[in-house]
Amino acid sequence: AVEEGRIDLGRGAETLDGKRINLYANINLLSDVKLAAKMNCAGVGLYRTEFPFIVRSSFPTEQEQFVVYKKLVDQMKGRQVTFRTLDVGGDKMLSYYHDAAEKNPAIGLRSIRFSLREKDIFIQQIRAILRAGARADVGIMFPMISSLDEFDMSRSIVNECREKLEAEGLEHNPNPKVGIMVELPSVVEQIDEFAQEADFFSIGTNDFVQFMLGVDRTNEMVENFYIPHHPSVLRALKRIIDACRRADKPVSICGMMAAEPTLTAFLVGIGLTDMSVTPASLPPLKRRIAQLDSEKCRKFAEEILSKSRASEIDKMLEKGI
Ligand code: PEP
Ligand code: MG
Repeated sequence: AVEEGRIDLGRGAETLDGKRINLYANINLLSDVKLAAKMNCAGVGLYRTEFPFIVRSSFPTEQEQFVVYKKLVDQMKGRQVTFRTLDVGGDKMLSYYHDAAEKNPAIGLRSIRFSLREKDIFIQQIRAILRAGARADVGIMFPMISSLDEFDMSRSIVNECREKLEAEGLEHNPNPKVGIMVELPSVVEQIDEFAQEADFFSIGTNDFVQFMLGVDRTNEMVENFYIPHHPSVLRALKRIIDACRRADKPVSICGMMAAEPTLTAFLVGIGLTDMSVTPASLPPLKRRIAQLDSEKCRKFAEEILSKSRASEIDKMLEKGI
């Protein structure tokens, strides 16, 4: 076993046989950034921009957002920062906007659907991100994308904002990477087409499991049915990663599956090279990766993917590699 004190997080993680895995941090509050920066991770794989919206009593202005986003970019000192556009609704309601009586909010007016409906708010957010990331390596990713049409609409808003900022002579990032979160099964069905279009992908397994299996992630009455190691979920992950590799597009996992120690060998085994987890999970994840041999992981994953039942996979994961 490798001791925590001897680990240099700056060089990312490496398997026993020297395969590099890039580790990123998920950031909710700016106060998480200090820890992430200390861990010396490769960057921020997921910044949940809804937090500055949730803590206020009305929508923050473009300038207010700019100040928060700029702090994040500055604290990451040149490392990559991936901004997820507003993901409100569902389990993240805005007291000043959402109608608590909305039926089935997890599949309601949330995430990118909200942004495409409230375009002014979307535009303010994109402008704030582009301005804050003027001299940084910035990615913009859209949550809950279900179709290429939504992706086209969202990306054209980024392009319009860039042109407008250019015309106004305001300093901004002229070339942000634009990607999507994979959270809906409809995207998997068209993953090769998406892989031609988006610059990068991040798999939001928390929602992906919910929508693949039709289980409310917040409902304890059905928590036994929320099974991340369901064969359909694991095979879909492999399909997404293979498609991104074929198209030479970066893909990460930013949902909780990335931090689950029993799944690390499987994820390495299907060729995942980028993982984004809460700052506190970075050291244990790095230690776990350091114990693995990538070829053994590949065989382990292959065997898991041949199983038809979650119960069989469960046993294999428990036993480990
Ligand atoms: C996810 O769905 O896996 C994810 C990372 O986003 P959130 O948990 O914020 O919905
Ligand atoms: Mg999500």
